[in-house]
Amino acid sequence: MTDRIRDFLATRRPDGPCMVLDLDVVRDNYLTFARTLPDTRVFYAVKANPAPEVLKLLADLGSSFDTASVAEIEMALDAGAGPDRISFGNTIKKERDIARAFEIGVDLFAVDCVEEVEKIARAAPGSKVFCRVLCDGSGAEWPLSKKFGCAPEMAIDVLEHAHRLGLVAHGVSFHVGSQQRDPEMWDRALEMAAGVFHACAERGIGLGMVNLGGGFPTKYLKDVPAVEAYGQAIFGSLRRHFGNRLPETIIEPGRGMVGNAGMIQAEVVLISKKAAEDEVRWVYLDIGKFGGLAETMDEAIRYPIRTEHDHDDKAPCVLAGPTCDSADVLYEKDPYYLPVSLSIGDKVLIEATGAYTTTYSAVAFNGFPPLKSYVI
Ligand SMILES: *Cc1c(COP(=O)(O)O)cnc(C)c1O
Repeated sequence: MTDRIRDFLATRRPDGPCMVLDLDVVRDNYLTFARTLPDTRVFYAVKANPAPEVLKLLADLGSSFDTASVAEIEMALDAGAGPDRISFGNTIKKERDIARAFEIGVDLFAVDCVEEVEKIARAAPGSKVFCRVLCDGSGAEWPLSKKFGCAPEMAIDVLEHAHRLGLVAHGVSFHVGSQQRDPEMWDRALEMAAGVFHACAERGIGLGMVNLGGGFPTKYLKDVPAVEAYGQAIFGSLRRHFGNRLPETIIEPGRGMVGNAGMIQAEVVLISKKAAEDEVRWVYLDIGKFGGLAETMDEAIRYPIRTEHDHDDKAPCVLAGPTCDSADVLYEKDPYYLPVSLSIGDKVLIEATGAYTTTYSAVAFNGFPPLKSYVI
């Protein structure tokens, strides 16, 4: 927890669960990415945390933005980024949204099939497209499955199709899976990208850009390599697979930009057992899967949790949220160790929750308001 967040909580004493985000940490993260990958443009993935203050800070620092909808494009514009700093990076777009983005001035689009290329050729003629290739996401704690991307062999045809329809076949993108703890995972993806570059060149199409995606981790319970390790591994792989003809590169950090900048303060609503002889206690917080902690799905992301009793002995607990839905359990298969002296009414701090929390919280499920957010 930063001093600024500690002071904010001590003086403002906000009621109910809330996420407090320290902009100084976001600034540090941006500068670290910019310094570590100096020849790479940063496109912040807006979905990770679209708070206007975050977007404004990043726009002022010179960041570009990866967006997934017209609403996100408008947020980036409102923050001060021109359309030349916005990528419409969702591979699944309505044709009228492509037209709207193009009208606004956006001319960089992600695709992963010829059907999407045809929409863009009609609604945003002459634009630049990059084709997303499938990446298996192994090593990532929040893998992105097969939903986005196509096989590299298909990417060649998709880009050629774009070229024939008068679009600019700009390059290749991939995402190695979110919370990717292995910097070497970019190597195989870059090998694949270089293969697509080569095959396109043989068809007379000169690609220029590789979008390295997101995946840069935030430290939760386990340690993660520093951004520098990612920068070195990526640069090494670029050299290995592209030689001296390095493509233009971009990164799209989301979690790695804002995750460690935010913290949730929550409250213990109930501590109980299911049978007198049970060892495991159930600890119910005033925040759960529907209040912003959706990434605990399948217990994928394990947040560090601090209490005022952390010096005491700890015992295993099932941790759950407050709503009347049995899916609203955070950690059960792998119980969470919490202090035996933890009591009803205690505050708990859930750390590294600046990414993928506020916008994942339901609007009024069971009457609980959306997660409050304070950006300081
Ligand atoms: C979500 C997303 C990102 C951000 O991923 P992180 O793992 O949070 O860095 C980047 N690019 C695209 C296309 C995305 O959908």
